[in-house]
Amino acid sequence: MVIDVHHHWEPSDGLETFLPFICRYIKSMYKSMHCPDLPLEKIMEEYFRLANDPYGEVLVKYMEESGVDKSVVFFWDRPSYDVETLMDINRRVGEIGRRFPDQVIPFASVNPTRENALDMLKKCVEDYGLVGMKWHPDVAGFNPSDKKFYPMLEKMNEYKMTLVTHTGSLPAPSKSLYAHPLLLDEILVDFPNINIIAAHSGWRWWPELAGVMEWKPRIYGCLTEWQLMAVADYDCFCRTLREMIDRMGIERLMWGTDNPSFTALMSVKDWVETIRSLPERAPEGIVFTREETEAILGGNAKRLFQL
Ligand SMILES: [Zn+2]
Repeated sequence: MVIDVHHHWEPSDGLETFLPFICRYIKSMYKSMHCPDLPLEKIMEEYFRLANDPYGEVLVKYMEESGVDKSVVFFWDRPSYDVETLMDINRRVGEIGRRFPDQVIPFASVNPTRENALDMLKKCVEDYGLVGMKWHPDVAGFNPSDKKFYPMLEKMNEYKMTLVTHTGSLPAPSKSLYAHPLLLDEILVDFPNINIIAAHSGWRWWPELAGVMEWKPRIYGCLTEWQLMAVADYDCFCRTLREMIDRMGIERLMWGTDNPSFTALMSVKDWVETIRSLPERAPEGIVFTREETEAILGGNAKRLFQL
């Protein structure tokens, strides 16, 4: 089973302004990572193809073509959105989840900084059927373990929710401090029913995430965004992944895409194949087993989501 723990759904009606912004941002990430310098038009075209998907049909078809069985799907709450717009988006994510219950695991996105965050959370879970939460604390500028947010975390704990939250540095406007894996440690201490997927495994801070994981069992890493390293420097990707598995353990590392962001760089089919072929393709001296690649691609997420 292949499970993508990180797919972004975008309302197609806001895309005219969001598309050029996000694609320029993605292009700058490719440049920093020494990935091929793709034309902006190509990035926009690929992004649009997956993002122009009001009912989830494009995603599900793309998953089928790519060999992905299930995807965790969410929007990310941007502070510029008013409550009504944001909640309508969350409602539509829930609708996609109901339409494709076998393929889609729908998550909410509500920043805890919102004045009525607690009520919004309740509505997302009880009315819209959303089963997890996505945060991007670095973009919204908040410390995820701030005591101010404890009422919301308490409710998430009661719902036994999984929190997918961005970890790792990014270009501005991301404020990277808020994406440090260490900020999640306190949540794990105080809320025993919340599982956390540290999106991108903390990126360059993956050793810090491993440090948190060493003593706290309910936190997971994922390889979302690591397509960039796999494309830019395959040997380095293999070396790093081997070390991550050795330090984090194989049971808590998952696979994901962060799409529609990176399809222009690497198709999902190729990203699945990149992981699956590690036992045969990894450079000499770096060993991966079939059990490890299957655990990463879906086995671990299957256990977390009790599928
Ligand atoms: Zn993301």
